[in-house]
Amino acid sequence: MTATITFLGGADTVTGSKYLIEHEGQRLLVDCGLFQGYKQLRLRNWNPLPVAPEQINAVILTHAHLDHSGYLPLLVKQGFKGRVHATSGTCDLAAILLPDSGHIQEEDAFFANRHGFSKHAPALPLYTKQEAVDSLKHLHAERQDEWFEPIPGWKARFQPAGHILGAASLLLDVAGRRILFSGDLGRPDDPLMNPPEPPPQADTVLIESTYGDRQHPKEKLFAELGPLLHKLAARGGVAVVPVFAVGRAQAVLHTIAQLKAAGEIPHGLPIFLDSPMAIHTTALFAKHPGEHRLSDQEVHNMDHVATMLETPEQSKSLAKRHGPMVILAASGMATGGRVLHHLAQYAGDHRNMIILTGYQAPGTRGAWLAGGSHTIRIHAQDVAVRAEVVQIESASAHADANQLLSWLHKMPCAPDQVYVVHGEREASDMLRQRIEHEIKWRAVVPEHGSVWPL
Ligand SMILES: [Zn+2]
Repeated sequence: MTATITFLGGADTVTGSKYLIEHEGQRLLVDCGLFQGYKQLRLRNWNPLPVAPEQINAVILTHAHLDHSGYLPLLVKQGFKGRVHATSGTCDLAAILLPDSGHIQEEDAFFANRHGFSKHAPALPLYTKQEAVDSLKHLHAERQDEWFEPIPGWKARFQPAGHILGAASLLLDVAGRRILFSGDLGRPDDPLMNPPEPPPQADTVLIESTYGDRQHPKEKLFAELGPLLHKLAARGGVAVVPVFAVGRAQAVLHTIAQLKAAGEIPHGLPIFLDSPMAIHTTALFAKHPGEHRLSDQEVHNMDHVATMLETPEQSKSLAKRHGPMVILAASGMATGGRVLHHLAQYAGDHRNMIILTGYQAPGTRGAWLAGGSHTIRIHAQDVAVRAEVVQIESASAHADANQLLSWLHKMPCAPDQVYVVHGEREASDMLRQRIEHEIKWRAVVPEHGSVWPL
């Protein structure tokens, strides 16, 4: 019997990655992500999966970002009993990200109930912080580049994908077929991470396409951020930088440390990292020295360039300070977290800056800001945007279209089939066309919920 793959997420959208592999009554879920962005996408998180979670034998996570891992607490809550295989870096990050996700779900539900803007009464969290903590017991660390058996007779192996700490591509052998999941691929020139390892031969490939229709600018983060912060310091403004707590926060910190050392921005420009998650993630760079390209000294500098704000009181006390200063806070697409309070506080002043770092999924506040919106809605209030809004694409943790193609093209021979996943429709389709025309391989963009033989 042939194995099948069902695209339960990360197909025709960039979030919710979930790929179900079935063979002879055994089921493996590769990635277990939350849908984010547009409300109709987020509502998908509430729909039951087409297969009961207790009938899934094992889960493999390619990395810890919530659009790949954030559904796990719900899967466990609904009865999943098996192991969740991931690299040790991913296990460490999931232990930071998942409880925080549960906390945000609880806060959002609480806020919606208090202010009566939920259509459900009462509003409920998808899962609680405690449920997220409970789900971590299922995590099982695997080494990069070593085979393991997620299900008897099935073999799987991680290989480094760049992107963020612990991120991996996944090779899976089942029913005589070899499937390669690219996972999220980093850039070969990422300031923090090593380049993704080239792909080994496989029969079927799933490749991400976040930037399938775009090229990154040639400028480096250093060259983009320097003049901006210099200008900000001169006019005494406040820069609010929504950052992904994992990855981009560290890239921006590392770059600011370099800019200060090079004298490109004033040494005394106050920098605040207002995200416990980002603070804990920054500390992990010292624990996993082999997984990134920073020296011990660079890790130390990154760790000391900002004042770390752990408590909500410290976060709130920032409102009493005057500019110039730079506030890095999560979340990276301004969908939640402490950055919302800072945006509400500082977006209205033209001296200030909002610096967007990395991909902004459609439907998020980050995407509204990037699109030039004059107001954004925060906690049921309209907030006027007069601050200068800048999007720096060089802060992306994803390979661009040419980099995706050249990674794929390193595969020794053509696979039978390429599935283009993890992108908005236009981005995925553009990459599909380029794969078909430029390297002449068969490629499709699978539809959400579709089932294919492997
Ligand atoms: Zn990711």
